[in-house]
Amino acid sequence: MGFIPITIDDFVKIHLKHNPSENEAEIKKNLKSALNDYKNGVKCSCGSDIWVIGSAWAGNSCFTCITGESHSTDDYEIDSAVKKMESTKGRRHINDIDPAKISGFFSDDGYEINSDLIKKPSLCLVCAKNDDPNEEMLCNMNRYDQKDEIEFKCFAFCKK
Ligand SMILES: [Zn+2]
Repeated sequence: MGFIPITIDDFVKIHLKHNPSENEAEIKKNLKSALNDYKNGVKCSCGSDIWVIGSAWAGNSCFTCITGESHSTDDYEIDSAVKKMESTKGRRHINDIDPAKISGFFSDDGYEINSDLIKKPSLCLVCAKNDDPNEEMLCNMNRYDQKDEIEFKCFAFCKK
């Protein structure tokens, strides 16, 4: 997908220039509600992620179902939806997994986290719990929660 990221405000400005008779408040309301649905993992009836901008007019549906085209080349999409699309690419959502097969852990918005991709802070290398399979899940959750922090803190740290 080659969406062009745009903020809701910028998109509405452009849209109203071409469609001056439409209601600005209503467009914004519909966009925000579609964006919210998108972030909550609402899918198109075909199972794909919804296209927030198109869904504001067409109801929650994906780009292909709304336009009949398989790929977007120069269509807009709300920036925070594009950001989320990139960060969740290839990751399964908890709602899409057979409940009997759920294992591992998930981010707050329900996407599977591949623990192999979580960086191990240097503190962990001198911790007695490093490589302890019983602690691994808690360690990974702690590492993931702090992935954007400069300094890693761990209350379970136990010097080797
Ligand atoms: Zn669809």
